Amino acid sequence: MSKTKSAVICGGGVVGLCCAYYLARDGWAVTVIERSAEGADSCVQGSAGYVSPSHVIPLSATGMVWKGLKWMTSARSPFYIKPRLDSELLRWAWLFARSCTPEHTARAAPILRDLCLGGRRLFVEFAGITNNAFELKQEGLIALCKTAEGLEHESHGLAALANGLGVKSVVLDARETAELEPGTRLDIAGSVYFPGDAHLSPRKFMPELLKLLRRMNVAFKWETAIEGWRTAGNKITAAITTGGEVAADEFILAGGSWSSRITRGLDIRLPMQAGKGYSLTIEKPRFQLTKSMILTERRVAVTPMGDKLRFGGTMEIAGHDNRIRPQRVQQIIDSARFYLPEFEAGDFAGIEPWYGYRPVSPDGMPYIGRFGRHSNLTAACGHAMLGLTMAPITGLLVSEVLGGQTPSVDLKLLGPDRFR
Ligand SMILES: Cc1cc2nc3c(=O)[nH]c(=O)nc-3n(C[C@H](O)[C@H](O)[C@H](O)COP(=O)(O)OP(=O)(O)OC[C@H]3O[C@@H](n4cnc5c(N)ncnc54)[C@H](O)[C@@H]3O)c2cc1C
Repeated sequence: MSKTKSAVICGGGVVGLCCAYYLARDGWAVTVIERSAEGADSCVQGSAGYVSPSHVIPLSATGMVWKGLKWMTSARSPFYIKPRLDSELLRWAWLFARSCTPEHTARAAPILRDLCLGGRRLFVEFAGITNNAFELKQEGLIALCKTAEGLEHESHGLAALANGLGVKSVVLDARETAELEPGTRLDIAGSVYFPGDAHLSPRKFMPELLKLLRRMNVAFKWETAIEGWRTAGNKITAAITTGGEVAADEFILAGGSWSSRITRGLDIRLPMQAGKGYSLTIEKPRFQLTKSMILTERRVAVTPMGDKLRFGGTMEIAGHDNRIRPQRVQQIIDSARFYLPEFEAGDFAGIEPWYGYRPVSPDGMPYIGRFGRHSNLTAACGHAMLGLTMAPITGLLVSEVLGGQTPSVDLKLLGPDRFR
């Protein structure tokens, strides 16, 4: 392909930058438009850093409607939808409820597996290119279960499904789990170990990726917001930005939880909610873990990142609301101490909670592929809890779509017009 073909990436989060990487690698002239400054925070920086093929069950899993309704009555629950009269939220909630079926999980799980395994494979390649400057650790993930019922549920649910799809999982009792992580006391009934999972330090990955992109001559328009579009027939000719119009042959929508807002005026329906999550990073933990963990019943992630230790969780569907809700942060701290009793409240004293907005589609599946309405607009958004894991494979798939190749993962369930 000649260098004359140009692509504009709308949004410079981890997904946008990965799209830029694979398109530039294929010879496209790439420009990334990002409204924040270079090096500013984005959703991935404070994430849990899992690269997680074990996450084969979509967020809209069977039983989530009832669980969600129960959780909504508690300010400390891991999942919360703030009730508000907003037609987009109501439609999203209806589509979400409609997706919470065993049939949807059965269809979605093999695709999620392929996306996550693809992401993991490509992170290993990135680690090779960067001398593993972002601390990729292929140590697996332990899903700790506090109760026997929790362990039973996990063994018959996620573990069985993952094994059936070829993603290895091992059910362990409390003693066997302790052998995996001997430096830490665990107060649990048992666990499920996913040896194929990995984790990394997202704050180190993003600058490394930027370095690679600069070497590949990717252009950046920082502090430039997309405000509208210029179209001709069924094509977009330019993005109208705060820094003027930017023309290109192809446009990639990678605006995370703001993606539907960015497409205003394009006659596109892209149901999306911001799923706020918090994390707390202990800079110098008194003891360190070797593997990432999930505190299963509380939905809290624990990840060693270099010398640091990060705890993250909660999914709050409350719009782009930048208030920090102390009860939700406290829920993360309490959960840490519930499973890992050596932690004390003092370990978390003075830590500034970080928050980010996950881009959440109603069926727990990302939007990847071309829009029907505009033939040169391609979606790369809506990855919810798996945006880091899936960012590289999303970039690769976008490059395959734009290059006219057969996508390496089946995109049937991921089309951006599926709720139109
Ligand atoms: C607490 C927490 C823990 C997580 N843990 C994990 C994990 O362990 N593993 C995992 O795989 N995922 C995890 N995630 C999810 C993951 O972080 C996200 O899915 C991912 O970062 C989304 O990336 P993105 O590029 O799609 O969106 P974003 O990072 O939100 O990027 C979108 C970009 O678009 C820009 N933008 C918006 N509007 C405009 C505009 N008008 N013009 C120009 N630019 C615009 C924004 O400024 C932003 O930089 C976690 C998330 C949270 C909150």
